[in-house]
Amino acid sequence: MSAPSHVLPQQLSVADGCLQLGGIGLPRLAERVGRTPFYAYDRGQIAQRVGTLRRVLPAGIRLHYAMKANPMPAVVQMLTGLVDGIDVASGGELRVALDTGMAPERVSFAGPGKTDGELRSAVAAGILLHLESEQELDRVAVAGEHVGVVPRVAIRINPDFELKLAGMKMGGGPRPFGVDEERVPAMLRTVRQRELDFQGFHIFCGAQNLSAAAIAEAQTLSVQLAVRMAEHAPAPLRQVNIGAGFGVPYFPGDQPLPLEPVANALQQSLDLLRAAAPDAALALELGRYLVAEAGVYVCRVLERKISHGHTYLITDGGLHHHLAASGNFGQRVRRNFPVAIGNRMAGEAREVVSVVGPLCTPLDVLAEQMPLAPAVAGDLVVVFQSGAYGLSASPAGFLSHPPALEVLV
Ligand SMILES: *Cc1c(COP(=O)(O)O)cnc(C)c1O
Repeated sequence: MSAPSHVLPQQLSVADGCLQLGGIGLPRLAERVGRTPFYAYDRGQIAQRVGTLRRVLPAGIRLHYAMKANPMPAVVQMLTGLVDGIDVASGGELRVALDTGMAPERVSFAGPGKTDGELRSAVAAGILLHLESEQELDRVAVAGEHVGVVPRVAIRINPDFELKLAGMKMGGGPRPFGVDEERVPAMLRTVRQRELDFQGFHIFCGAQNLSAAAIAEAQTLSVQLAVRMAEHAPAPLRQVNIGAGFGVPYFPGDQPLPLEPVANALQQSLDLLRAAAPDAALALELGRYLVAEAGVYVCRVLERKISHGHTYLITDGGLHHHLAASGNFGQRVRRNFPVAIGNRMAGEAREVVSVVGPLCTPLDVLAEQMPLAPAVAGDLVVVFQSGAYGLSASPAGFLSHPPALEVLV
């Protein structure tokens, strides 16, 4: 097997020179989907990922799926059979989560700026609300009176520490997320005075972290914080959700996250929590780690074009479907996601090309100056590590091209 030139997705399987997904060769899959571009998610790989976590992490750790990573209803449905909870971040996601038949007690809703309508739906459904502010506490209590249901609530804490080395920080210092640590005791007194069913705490520090030591430290501090705050709580802790932030390797030089050190620290945290709050479950919420590596984005080469000695593969897919692979509208130093010609995986020949999309902007790049198997019109370009923050995180309306399809195989 000849590999794409850099990060090789661990689970890559190739037969007859073609990438296989869900046991189907890529050209056959493209026929089945009917047109390109499309995203394909491999259910076997998703299940394997959850299985690995179950094997390595301490028994008793609850795994939640943060569905904004990939909200395709079929993916969410399949994950409800594998995980212990679904975390949603909007009323729309809440509807998809409830449609799966997941028990409402196992669905939680986080995010700043929930509308009164969203709060009422969530309270009526009996799901767990992660309160992001004192004002939201008031609005949830009012929603509870309106609907005639006592809202189940947890407080999302904005901790004083931050997740080191995270690709995206979401705690520590000023944040729109959660309630500053020092204000939590007062807020807990208010919870006691209102008609609210207090469940516990939510602490999420950041995402896309590939350092096990940094994750272990943040999770340990999170559980210690929850245990300290429990002294002020109106009821015993039932649930502590400490986020996760597990990253996946996207770029050259990225190494997969080693799970064992995280697992060891989690066992200690679990022991600490059980000593302080015997009825409290400890939950991790994972988004990209469950789905990113199980997904590919596939588009077709329309033309080969040479300009001043530089070869471009012009495809029918691009930035409008896969913003992250294109470099997020040029905001950062652009790095290539792993890319290959999915129907030419055999053979060693390589040529350095750029893969671009059909949009009239120089930002519409899927691969820049990458060594790929020599490709012609009709060949299938595959962007790996695309199962999370792909289609739903891209500007589909930009330039009015057709949307990408999605399949779970
Ligand atoms: C987005 C989000 C996640 C998932 O982050 P990943 O990097 O996809 O794992 C988890 N928890 C909360 C509160 C989030 O907002």
